[in-house]
Amino acid sequence: MQGGSATELRRRNRDAVIRAIASETSISRTQIARQTGLTGAAVSRITRELIDAGLVREGESIQTKGQVGRRNICLELEDHGAYVLAIALTANVKSVSISNSRGKIIGQSLLENLRLSDPDEVIGQICDAANALLKACAIERSRLVGCGVSVAGVVDPETGFLATSEPLGWERVELGKAFAAALDIPVRVERRPVALLTAEMWRGAARGLDNIVLINNGLWLGGCIVADGRVLTGPENAVGQIAHMVVGGDDTLCSCGRRGCLNATASGISILRKLEHVTLAESSADDEPGARLRSLARYAGAGHPEVEEAFRAAGSQMGRAVDCLFALLEPELILLAGETSRHPAFLAGVHETLAIMRPGEAEWPVRVSSITTDLSAVWVALDAFVFSHALNIEKLMAA
Ligand SMILES: [Zn+2]
Repeated sequence: MQGGSATELRRRNRDAVIRAIASETSISRTQIARQTGLTGAAVSRITRELIDAGLVREGESIQTKGQVGRRNICLELEDHGAYVLAIALTANVKSVSISNSRGKIIGQSLLENLRLSDPDEVIGQICDAANALLKACAIERSRLVGCGVSVAGVVDPETGFLATSEPLGWERVELGKAFAAALDIPVRVERRPVALLTAEMWRGAARGLDNIVLINNGLWLGGCIVADGRVLTGPENAVGQIAHMVVGGDDTLCSCGRRGCLNATASGISILRKLEHVTLAESSADDEPGARLRSLARYAGAGHPEVEEAFRAAGSQMGRAVDCLFALLEPELILLAGETSRHPAFLAGVHETLAIMRPGEAEWPVRVSSITTDLSAVWVALDAFVFSHALNIEKLMAA
């Protein structure tokens, strides 16, 4: 075996061990060995290394049944073993956060009134906010291992190149390279649906599942698919972007020129358009779109019939899409994320349609995701740089 591949094997084994520890509240070395297929000796060596690097600590000890006198010490993540930066960049949310290695946000800056017309200026302002936040939180810079970005747009996660973003109005931006150069740490950029699903797979309803679809519906629609445990990307990194899928039942004209796309019938933006003429106390069609959608959601919840019906009708169209996705992909779970999806009237619409289209079935594995965009960026970073074969353990040892 060559030196390079031995190093690579060591990294992969370490990755398997830290993933096993990170996915449980606490776990014994014996359980890790069982889960990963590594020998007890290998697990002991690797956990020693992780403890020395300050990433893992020994916790409670449990008595192993039938083995008198033999204690099994559980391992858990050290809260402050590593830190990551997390950047959310969407139509509605622009924020920078710092998280510890358990995914707990310990500091955050929300950025408002950014001039989206100039991507370089926006990137510069986000990096300034990140540096100010790092200073304010007074964390050891040597324990800052990377940055995750959750962006509304089509992006290549390998290079961080943003091909296009309808919500931001951006085309061809070297997002990953710009952030990495300005922050001087490794950066991973994912489109928001993938980021949300990454967080769900670590800490949410998708834990332990291999076949999941996530549909994000805030103002704009996005989606992604995990099949057999892998995120499907496709040649343009756009698999699962369902905005321009036509499902019938409503033939409203879409911005793309076709009729009946989900973008025109089920998205938050489509609800805004449908209710343009509706004037409510403290909200008009001239409001910033995110604020307008939040006002409308409140009125729908308070029983305003026309507004509630718009959310329900949008949900009903989404129900048709969900029905297609079940038939096509056999997912174990469909997650509906984003503010529009979380509205009770929208969800009622989804369920009503499913009840009509799938009359023999009592329930469907459809859940609402409560993961927010800022947290999704945190898990992109943890997944890429801490619970990962890319973990720079030498840097942490030296910290
Ligand atoms: Zn369309």
